[in-house]
Amino acid sequence: MYGAGMDEMLNAMFGAGGMPGMESMGGFGGRGGRGQRARRGRDVGHALPVTLEDLYNGKTVQVERRRTVLCPECKGSGSKKKNVPRGGNVCPQCRGSGVRVVVHQMGMMVQQSQVMCDACSGTGELIDPRNRCPRCSGSKTVEVDAPVSVVVAKGMSHKQQLVFARMADEEPGADRAGDFVVVLQQLKHDIFTRDDCDLHMQHHLSLQEALCGFQFKLTHLDGRELVVRQPRGQITKPGDVKAVVGEGMPVLKQAGKFGDLIIEFLVDYPDRVEESQLQLLRQALPPPKSVDATARNEEEGEVCYVTREDLSILEEEIKKDEEAEDENEGPSAGCAAQ
Ligand SMILES: [Zn+2]
Ligand SMILES: [Zn+2]
Repeated sequence: MYGAGMDEMLNAMFGAGGMPGMESMGGFGGRGGRGQRARRGRDVGHALPVTLEDLYNGKTVQVERRRTVLCPECKGSGSKKKNVPRGGNVCPQCRGSGVRVVVHQMGMMVQQSQVMCDACSGTGELIDPRNRCPRCSGSKTVEVDAPVSVVVAKGMSHKQQLVFARMADEEPGADRAGDFVVVLQQLKHDIFTRDDCDLHMQHHLSLQEALCGFQFKLTHLDGRELVVRQPRGQITKPGDVKAVVGEGMPVLKQAGKFGDLIIEFLVDYPDRVEESQLQLLRQALPPPKSVDATARNEEEGEVCYVTREDLSILEEEIKKDEEAEDENEGPSAGCAAQ
């Protein structure tokens, strides 16, 4: 069985389908070679949650675990006798087939069916209780502590796989144990999201900051305080995307190389402007393209105003209000639900 179940495991860990990079994980089963006859034990996956800070700074994590190994006492034979050849404990009931043939007779009809051999539980092997290995009681395997030390290197990524070859469970009858595969699972960060080597974030500016310049403090993933500034005289528009070069994630295995920090700016406009401020703004800002709103000339056309909101938003608000009213009508039901 070549790593069967690994896909299911990954799906369980990260959700099925649509995950970028899932294709590359198909490589699991390939190791060991499909052409070879050798039976390979099952691969085992282990999700290791890591923070973005861990991936930025690097970290060594000890993963405590237990694994099944062939009993060192009997070398996996389950038997006390030394040098028992493979298959030397053939079940006498089924002669090693693991099944028994049962014949039913119903009148003239004779029906044959196969049932699992109860003497050996279908394994085809039976060890005389007197010959059972004292360490594993004939089960052939024992559990041992098998911690692994996972080195999370600077710049490693979400879903990165770290393979500990032959460190999965040893199974009787398998020629080699499967791999123990640690899969890094990056936890969500409050400020940053990651895109390969770049870090992305959003930052809100007031309208004044957007027009007149700004600076803000930012604690980076290694604890450094960055002061992000806008060069004087530049304006930031809503949705502007700017980069701080070299403040992204470290590039894996390339010491000193970093991606960029990409900041998307959102501008918070004031809800209204006082008349006195309007005068100042008019003086300060470039002249309008449209007719001066103060110089109304009603003969030139019909005057209409833009409404406060887009119609669809208004409709939504009305709906919300109605729902709120509905809730108020039945307060006992609403409270019980919470
Ligand atoms: Zn044993
Ligand atoms: Zn049997």
